[in-house]
Order: sequence, then structure tokens, then C-alpha cells
Amino acid sequence: MSEPLVIVGNGMAGARLCEELARRALGRYAIAVVGEEPQLAYNRVLLSSVLAGDVPASDIALQPAGWWRDRGVTLCYGTAVTAVDIASRTVKCADGKVLSYAKLVFATGSRPIRLPIAGADLPGVLTFRDLADVATISRAARRGARAVVIGGGLLGIEAAYGLAKAGARVSLVHLMDRLMERQLDARAAAMLKRAVEAKGIEVLLEAATSRFLGDGRIEAVELKDGRIIATDMAVVAVGIRPNVEIAAAAGLAVNRGIVVDDRLSTSAADVFAIGECAEHRGICYGLVEPANEQARLLAERLAGRNSRYGGSVNATNLKVSGVHVFSAGDFIGAPGTESIVLADRGLGLYRKLVIANDRLVGAVLYGDTADAPWYLELIRSAAAIDCFREDIVFGRALAERQAA
Ligand SMILES: Cc1cc2nc3c(=O)[nH]c(=O)nc-3n(C[C@H](O)[C@H](O)[C@H](O)COP(=O)(O)OP(=O)(O)OC[C@H]3O[C@@H](n4cnc5c(N)ncnc54)[C@H](O)[C@@H]3O)c2cc1C
Repeated sequence: MSEPLVIVGNGMAGARLCEELARRALGRYAIAVVGEEPQLAYNRVLLSSVLAGDVPASDIALQPAGWWRDRGVTLCYGTAVTAVDIASRTVKCADGKVLSYAKLVFATGSRPIRLPIAGADLPGVLTFRDLADVATISRAARRGARAVVIGGGLLGIEAAYGLAKAGARVSLVHLMDRLMERQLDARAAAMLKRAVEAKGIEVLLEAATSRFLGDGRIEAVELKDGRIIATDMAVVAVGIRPNVEIAAAAGLAVNRGIVVDDRLSTSAADVFAIGECAEHRGICYGLVEPANEQARLLAERLAGRNSRYGGSVNATNLKVSGVHVFSAGDFIGAPGTESIVLADRGLGLYRKLVIANDRLVGAVLYGDTADAPWYLELIRSAAAIDCFREDIVFGRALAERQAA
């Protein structure tokens, strides 16, 4: 008989786990997925493209309804899990359902951090995490509307771009002295700033938001230096926080995320966590590739193999049309590393590779990112690069030709 396996969360990690299990252990588990969002799991990464009008919202489901049905997966979506009882191995849902499990997986993702400042609850102060947020932002972004985006990371820049493309007048407010400081070094970030401004977006750096102003609805954002920016909406994209409350209330070990070991096991027997809600070796990843790697590894374990997860390399691509940016690994360069830099301001090209012990450990590419998958593979595999080191910065074709 199939063992009952309950997955909490119908996001990207949960969906990928079902796909990987269907490939490896179809029939071994009776899978039920409980998801708070009221639709089939979708590709969250594509929300920026939906906001920018490049992809219709109807095109981003990860699998059609028939796919889940054909694999015998029970989908309970539009309802949240409200409690887990580890002793009785049961999961309670908001709609009153109680599900029993033999194995339980938390895949609850994260939620946007809200700024703890005055006016944060005013209508028109928005976040950018799910399809409902995109619908709200799109409605507000009528042609000529004024918008302030707070946060100059990947998400904030993509939100600003989507809003500008929809016809809004956008100001991007960022606390730090450069955009995407967690992915880019200063030179690449300066090039990115110019490209973002060329899209008609005003960029304000080293700008701290002190409060939202408005009478019944947002009317302006006030900065700590006293500047006031009149606006019709504010999109807050200052970071994410893992959804751990249900796991913590169930008694699982939780720090920032739900603590897991190399088997992706939590502190309770037969309970696992993957994706953004999981904390592995002190790291909560905020990207989809680590979630996919964790889903694959957990599926292998649930199918009876003894696989172990050793961590992931962080790698990011910005999704703004015509602006090609890639960053992976240690792009700043820790002490003891060496950097190779190729820069052509006229061509809008910048490339920095960080090397340690004859291995590539980090990369920033701006302008031309065609070789990003190759550099990422070199970082992930930790392959020795001494045979083409002198040409590596010029890209794969030249480096491999010289090495042959
Ligand atoms: C606009 C945008 C653009 C992005 N772009 C990129 C990118 O370019 N590259 C990249 O690598 N990553 C990107 N990301 C991040 C990427 O989407 C996430 O890393 C990925 O979705 C993580 O998958 P997850 O399953 O852990 O979380 P999620 O996909 O968020 O899924 C978690 C699900 O669990 C549900 N849930 C939470 N609590 C409960 C509960 N108690 N009961 C039931 N259900 C619950 C949530 O509603 C949600 O549906 C982007 C994210 C956004 C928002």
C-alpha cells in the first residue's frame, strides 16, 4: 500500500518534489499537496515577466491540472495548513480537513518583509511575491501613475522595470550605495544603474525610507533626509523571511529557517523541509535552483537512495529586457583570491572572474552573459582551469580552442 506523504506548500519546491518523485517512485507514496494560494503551482520566477507584460499570467502554471491527476496527486489548494501534530502525525487545514502522514515535507517558501515604519499598512503600500500581488500592482500601474519601489535588489529592479513598462513614473529607492550589492561589484552595479535610468526609472541610492504618508491611502514616501516623493503606490521589495511559524509551533528546530541536515531532515522523524523555508548549514537560499536541487535530492532519498545535499552555489540573472547581468559564487573575492577583469565601457561590457587555487569561485558578467552557464558549471564542478586560465575571461569558445 502507498505511504501517505503530505507536502505543505504548492510552490516551486513542492511542485518540483512531485515531479522528481513521479520519475523515481511513482506509486510508492500517496501524495497530497496543501497550498494556500488558490491555483495550480506556477513559475514564480516568471512573475516579473508577467508584470512587464511579456508573458500572460495564464501561461505560467508549472504543470496542467491533468498532469497532477494522472500521477494520483491530491491537490488541496486555496487552503492553508494551520497546525501540524508530530505525535499523531496529522496536519490540520484551514478548511477543517485533517490529513494523516507517514512522511511530511515543509515547502512553505518565504514572504516579503514589511518595513516596520509609520504608514506601512496604508492601502497602496504593496509587496511583490505572488500572482495576487502582480494583479494588484498591474491595476495600480495605469499609464502615468506614480510609483516608488523600495529596494534595489533583483526583485525591486524587476518590479521597477515592469511598472515603467506599464507606463508608470517610477522612482527606485535603495538604502545602499549601489544596486544589487549582494550580487554585483561596484563597477557592474554602476553600469546597471545607468541602464536602469535609461529605462526612464529614477534611481535614488543611499536613501532610507522613514515613513509612508497619506490620508486613507498612500500619497507620498518620506526619506530620512527629509525628501518627500509624491506617489500613488509603493512597492516594498526589501527582502524575504522564511515561513516557519507552523513548523516552530509543531516543535521543530527553527532558526531563521526550518533547520535541516544533509538529508534535508528536520529535528522530527520523517519530517523534511526544502526550498526557501529550509535552513541548511546556516543558509536559507532565496533562489529557485537550490530549491530544485533540494527537491531532487529529497526525492532520491524518499525513493530509497542514500543521497546527501552539500549546499548550492548562488547564481542570479536579472530579467530586464536588454540588460544582461549574471552573478555567481564569490563575486567580490575573499582574501587570498585573485581576480581577472575585462572591461569595455564603450561596448557596455564588464566581466570579473574570481579565482582561488586554480579554480573559478565567482563571476560577474555585465552586457554579454552568453557564457554564464559555462562559468557556473566551472564554479559548481570546481574543475581546474590552469589549462585555459589565460583565455578564460574571453569566454568558452576561445578558452577551449586554445586549450585543445
Ligand atoms: C517576482 C519574483 C522573481 C523571482 N526571480 C527569480 C529569479 O530570477 N531567479 C531565482 O532563482 N529565483 C527567483 N525568485 C525566487 C523564486 O521564485 C523562489 O526561490 C522559489 O519560488 C522558491 O520556491 P519555494 O517553493 O521554496 O517557495 P514558493 O514558491 O514561495 O512556494 C511556497 C508556497 O507555500 C505556500 N504556503 C506557505 N505557507 C503555507 C501554509 N501554512 N499552508 C499551505 N501553503 C503554504 C505559499 O503560499 C506558496 O505558494 C523570484 C521570486 C519572485 C517573487
